[in-house]
Amino acid sequence: MRTQILFRTACASAALGLAGLVCLPPEALGYAFLGGSLRLAQRDVRVFNNFSDPEANANTQPDPDFPGAIGAPLAIWKAAVEWGSQRHGTGLGDPNNMDGLGSGGADFDFSWQGETNTVGGTNENIVSELVGTSGGIYAFCETPIADGWRIRFYSDAAVWHDSPDSPPPGNTHKDIQGVATHELGHALGLDHSNIPEATMLGALIGSGVTWRSLAPDDQAGVQALYGARSAGKPEIAALFVPAPLVLVVAGLNFAANGNELWFPDGSVGADGTPLVIGGLPSDATRTRITCVLPPNAAAGDVLVHVPGQSGATLSNAFPFEPGQPSCPPIVAYGTPKTTSQATLPALYWSGRPTLTTDDFVIGTTGGIPNANCVLLSGTQRANLPFQGGTLYLGGALRRYPPATLDFFGGIELHVPVAPALVGTRRFYQLWFADAGDAFGVGLSDALQVYFCP
Ligand SMILES: [Zn+2]
Repeated sequence: MRTQILFRTACASAALGLAGLVCLPPEALGYAFLGGSLRLAQRDVRVFNNFSDPEANANTQPDPDFPGAIGAPLAIWKAAVEWGSQRHGTGLGDPNNMDGLGSGGADFDFSWQGETNTVGGTNENIVSELVGTSGGIYAFCETPIADGWRIRFYSDAAVWHDSPDSPPPGNTHKDIQGVATHELGHALGLDHSNIPEATMLGALIGSGVTWRSLAPDDQAGVQALYGARSAGKPEIAALFVPAPLVLVVAGLNFAANGNELWFPDGSVGADGTPLVIGGLPSDATRTRITCVLPPNAAAGDVLVHVPGQSGATLSNAFPFEPGQPSCPPIVAYGTPKTTSQATLPALYWSGRPTLTTDDFVIGTTGGIPNANCVLLSGTQRANLPFQGGTLYLGGALRRYPPATLDFFGGIELHVPVAPALVGTRRFYQLWFADAGDAFGVGLSDALQVYFCP
């Protein structure tokens, strides 16, 4: 089985290589198909940045429309968005592309999923470099079928450039972005065109910079494969962060219920599958979706998917930068119950309630020496008479493991920050035994805590 796949791959190299005109059907006029199209679950694009030429990663200038990327990955991301249904962000990013990046006009959009550390299999949708050379072939795309693809650039076929400007003149300098635009056209199912201006022309002329911008023939090709952009296709126009950890996606044509947001997955071991936050309603006008930012959402593009499996159910790709949202301050509230020893067990804290630091501690100094205690948390704030004091917690209550106050009536308790806590708010209060109290109970005041990435 493996051998058969490799044979097919080798054939694909010849057919898809940039000098592979031999496989172009002689009767072709304009765009042609390879015989498949990408399923909706295969819109991801990743890059293994093993490009070896220094010129391939010379661009260290970040681009606000492509947050988090520089070098070869930035050039390849730009190539992917050129096939998108509409302008990507401002459309800027290619000084040679007068009509902006995002020219496909079809019900088709790639989902940028950032970098990975492997060349991957032939259907894992990863672009990388391959050591060596093969005749006149600069790069090739394997298994461009419904279940995915892989693109390789031959290391010795050219000096590969990532610059937004044109590579220097001369036959040896080639443009990563332009060649990637061509290969991604194969990935989505297009064969070579014989239109000289087309990005899908089967022979590389010059550096490949002109391939960055789709020609009308390429646009007609992707629209023939996936359909011209539907009037009802969801569309992202803007993103807002009205409060820390809250993302509002504004646009058009969202579903009343069951919207998904597709984020770049920044988790360890991410496999290219978008990080999906599902089950989201939109507002009454179907123009806004609000969600809690997932902690593992990486910088990249966000897309909205409404129920369904056609390309018309997936929005344009919109630049997304999670940044470092400031963590809301911790707020103390309520009044401690005075102990039988006339002390006030007020809570304090140290560290930060963040997943990345996981050093958050809640403490007190005013309790009963050597008494048993339990830290309580709730999902809501409350104000209820309770055992001679006030319970300041409501909602789903939780007890942390029992502990013992020290010789001075103090304690410090580590509050672990699990991923599920990130983006949520919790309320804390300390309960402890007070043998001299009429109820036998001591109670602290309370803390309101937001947990952050
Ligand atoms: Zn080709």
